Amino acid sequence: MIRPLSAFADNYIWLISDGTHAMVVDPGDAGPVTDALQQADLRLTAILLTHHHQDHVGGVQELVASTGAAVYGPATESLPTCDYPLSEGDHVGDTALQLDLDVLDVPGHTAGHIAYAGFVGGIPVVFCGDTLFAAGCGRLFEGTPAQMMASLTKIAALPHDTRVYCTHEYTLSNMRWARVVEPGNQDLQRWQEQATAQRTQGQPTLPSSISQELACNPFLRAQQPAVTQAASQWAGHQLNTPVEVFAALREWKNGFR
Ligand code: ZN
Ligand code: FE
Repeated sequence: MIRPLSAFADNYIWLISDGTHAMVVDPGDAGPVTDALQQADLRLTAILLTHHHQDHVGGVQELVASTGAAVYGPATESLPTCDYPLSEGDHVGDTALQLDLDVLDVPGHTAGHIAYAGFVGGIPVVFCGDTLFAAGCGRLFEGTPAQMMASLTKIAALPHDTRVYCTHEYTLSNMRWARVVEPGNQDLQRWQEQATAQRTQGQPTLPSSISQELACNPFLRAQQPAVTQAASQWAGHQLNTPVEVFAALREWKNGFR
């Protein structure tokens, strides 16, 4: 079972458990994790980290001290602590949790950002940190548009039914912008209605799926004629390559309110 623990304004810490053991992904704050472990009487065995930002690693030291959990994280980033430095091709497995994940290098948001893709309980999943968001993507703090586009393409190539566990509830604000980019996208319109209802009821909009992202996320649709045209119009000149379109989309979104 995978469930979100809310942290800060809009972070999700994903808790994976079998009723006895647990792992968490990106615990920026120890408090919500400690509470959840106590309430369900779970033993934390591992912490998975996607990148070095404080809102993803801030709770690590306190959790390691209180639980002795092993820490897995990106090999090339500076983390509070890390027992298993990982990069593409590495693997994380846990028999009790039926967890079987491959590590992907996905630079762009940060230079050493990794994602975990595979299966939990037989269901295809990806934990992608701040790389792919529902109808959006992470900002380029340490990478180039070409790097981020390659990273997103790698994630988008996962099986279509893969559940996408991103780390922030940015969905509705991403969709407001995506609707401006692609006003004629009916899949996006339907998903926006569904997500709006979920937020009205206080539910998370996540996980999304790779098929939803392919149908609706402008950052995965830079080669669609409507997206190329909208980005070119925003930029004020014709954009000729997918990377140029992607870079313009990222700048457009940065300034969008
Ligand atoms: Zn981040
Ligand atoms: Fe973050």
